Amino acid sequence: MELEAMYQTLGVSPQVLRFGEEILDSLRERFAQIDAVAEYNQHKVLAAMQKNRVNATHFAATTGYGYDDEGRDNLERVYADCFHTEAALVRPQITCGTHALAVALSANLLPGDELLSPVGRPYDTLEEVIGIRPSKCSLAEYGVTYREVALTKDGGFDYEGIRAAIGPRTKLVTIQRSKGYATRPSFSVAQIGELIAFCKSCKSDVICMVDNCYGEFVELQEPSDVGADMIVGSLIKNPGGGLAPIGGYICGTSACVERCAYRLSAPGLGQEVGANLGLMPSFYQGLFLAPTVVAGALKGAVFAANIYEKLGFKVIPTGSETRHDIIQAVELGSREAMLAFCKGIQLAAPVDSYVTPEPWAMPGYDDEVIMAAGAFVQGSSIELSADGPIREPYAVYFQGGLTWYHAKLGILMSLQKLCDAGIVKL
Ligand SMILES: *Cc1c(COP(=O)(O)O)cnc(C)c1O
Repeated sequence: MELEAMYQTLGVSPQVLRFGEEILDSLRERFAQIDAVAEYNQHKVLAAMQKNRVNATHFAATTGYGYDDEGRDNLERVYADCFHTEAALVRPQITCGTHALAVALSANLLPGDELLSPVGRPYDTLEEVIGIRPSKCSLAEYGVTYREVALTKDGGFDYEGIRAAIGPRTKLVTIQRSKGYATRPSFSVAQIGELIAFCKSCKSDVICMVDNCYGEFVELQEPSDVGADMIVGSLIKNPGGGLAPIGGYICGTSACVERCAYRLSAPGLGQEVGANLGLMPSFYQGLFLAPTVVAGALKGAVFAANIYEKLGFKVIPTGSETRHDIIQAVELGSREAMLAFCKGIQLAAPVDSYVTPEPWAMPGYDDEVIMAAGAFVQGSSIELSADGPIREPYAVYFQGGLTWYHAKLGILMSLQKLCDAGIVKL
């Protein structure tokens, strides 16, 4: 068979391929559901682009101050309409997701205010932004205090604990949609809506921000549809569709987003400045492609979950669970297995397929981290990638894939390398 020969050329044995195909046969219905969500979200993006009369003039490059940058301003209207918010800040000057979150937090928290995370410890890099780990220029240094309420044992919200933690100084509640590098469940938009409603019932004027990284276009709704005052994310994840080479976004109420713009540039300047540097075509087109790209990544995640679950590994989410983000965690149980898995992902890449990933001490993270990625955009995790901190329970976090076929190859290659290393027997 031609396809089997092609897989063999790439390094996947007929046995591994057969194992994968059997799993795939059981996933047709899941894939149809993923396609249905993508179809809806595609049209949501299209409607926002049509409403804002996107045309070729919006793709023009600007330089310098970037005054009257119509392409940039219109892109922000498109994002706001797509995510049903009053305003949006979508900029190449936002360097990554952590930066977008740091801008959103520091713009809306003043000395004496308190920040609350009702979903336990936030993403690793936010520990330094907040000052959980002492850090220069953290919110803590500026007199913003922080509290967190851990999730319950079954991964739910500790409502009584949250009520007790919300006090007169609680200004902002930060809710992380995706599990990140934790092995807790990711939250559905509906769950986030309930949590926001509860927080607002405790304190009506509290600002609710959602770290939306990896969650965009996975469901029909976004957290901004269920009461979030701000949703924040990275353009080298889902909404950039693999084309955006840099950038972040903050969508939300005019009051919150306006402050973010002043924080990002300077008081008095705000959203008026910030040249687009010729990136508008990739920002618009990336958003246009994002729902389909996310669907491919989701299929890869579901496929990986079912493969590794069948082999007896703990996978989060499980093979049959509904998805709320594009991340798939697989607890591999050893450093060697993490290295083999990542080697396979790397070997499947279109770029840098010949290199071997090694663990390293990455800025912003506490433990050594291993990363496999052969991406067109450096560090892009909407492209096929696998990473994880080298610590118990030795979980790799697998995500992305600009096309489903590439994600499929990556997963089969990871399995191949685990077989070759004698860690897995089919
Ligand atoms: C990726 C991510 C971030 C921040 O990401 P950057 O690497 O700075 O772009 C924050 N929160 C979550 C949940 C993430 O997945």
